[in-house]
Amino acid sequence: MTDAHAAGRAGVRSLYLHIPFCERRCEYCDFVSLPGRDREAEYVEALRAEVRGLAVRLGRLELDTVFIGGGTPSFVDPARLGGVLDEVRAGFALAPGCEVTLEANPSSTSHARAAAWLEAGFNRVSLGIQSLEPDILAFLGRVHDRERALAAVEEVRRAGFSRISCDLIYAVPGLDDARWRSTLERVAALGPGHVSAYELTVEAGTPLHASVRRGEKPAVDPEAALRQHRIAVSVLDAAGLHQYEVSNYAQPCEECRHNLVYWRRGHYLGAGLGAHGHLPAGLGTLVDIPVPPGAIGLRYWHGRSLPAYVEVSRSGALPIEASEAVTAADAEAERILLGLRLAEGIAVSGPLGERADALVAADLLWRRDGRVGTTAQGQEVLDEVIRQLVA
Ligand code: SF4
Repeated sequence: MTDAHAAGRAGVRSLYLHIPFCERRCEYCDFVSLPGRDREAEYVEALRAEVRGLAVRLGRLELDTVFIGGGTPSFVDPARLGGVLDEVRAGFALAPGCEVTLEANPSSTSHARAAAWLEAGFNRVSLGIQSLEPDILAFLGRVHDRERALAAVEEVRRAGFSRISCDLIYAVPGLDDARWRSTLERVAALGPGHVSAYELTVEAGTPLHASVRRGEKPAVDPEAALRQHRIAVSVLDAAGLHQYEVSNYAQPCEECRHNLVYWRRGHYLGAGLGAHGHLPAGLGTLVDIPVPPGAIGLRYWHGRSLPAYVEVSRSGALPIEASEAVTAADAEAERILLGLRLAEGIAVSGPLGERADALVAADLLWRRDGRVGTTAQGQEVLDEVIRQLVA
């Protein structure tokens, strides 16, 4: 292993693993998900093979965060999830206090399952609550109801998880401000250390997009989205959950360390169907990714076909579909784009600092100690702020 390899390895401390299975496809879903559990055993074996392949090629990296997302990881056999974590522990060292998150949906959560997840080594659960309103859950195509959502939080907590996150969606047509406020208050009263509140996005290619285009369902109202974002900031802040990213709120020290790696442009490995990774360019040759001249980093991703994934993984190759180089200019644009989502903002100097001046004067950015970040007003026109900052 060269010096570049050794230096690169030291900067990769996070691992994302994707489980694609879901009970059924939600109307708005743009994630890599498959309805049902067909070929679950085969897929999990292939995922474990990819984890082994990464460990062999990269050596025993030490990880600070592991995140199993989906899809609906909680939907698969808990013993299989435990097997995936066993594979991670066999090939990687988990640093003391390593954050190990499992994404779960209320419909596939129970006290017994949560106890098995804890036993397997997960220490954080992110629950896809999305809404507590029956018509909104139906609009989204979710399979759980309000009672199941509330029970799931209690089950996970009773099983022994102290780190719980709840995901919510706002700006869903039909959701008025009063009901959104009451959802936030009810969820905050459950005492999760972390809440994610995302505006509904209608992505092309989803059933929801087709319904909106045909005029069968209303589009998202941008005014309602803005109002409901403000309501989230105020209700969650009053409950002690501080906004640390545009759509994410946490009690002190309860921020999602794994997602912070993404927003801070850190490096991470991604394995499984559709998963993305970001590596220092120096590591490309170790994982069979070509390194173009001028690259300082590499972003890579996996395909969306389960049969193809399984076949390649079984052959012993890494099932990476494609990659692209990150140049120094790309990296700087990404740093601005991602960093301005964070309450901590970004360090600025030179021409970037000068471009920030006008935005500070317009009260769209704050500036302190050589850093700038968005004000509440700036957050509401974030795309425009970024456009003005990126050279
Ligand atoms: S549960 Fe999540 S990943 Fe699965 S279909 Fe619904 S939105 Fe998509």
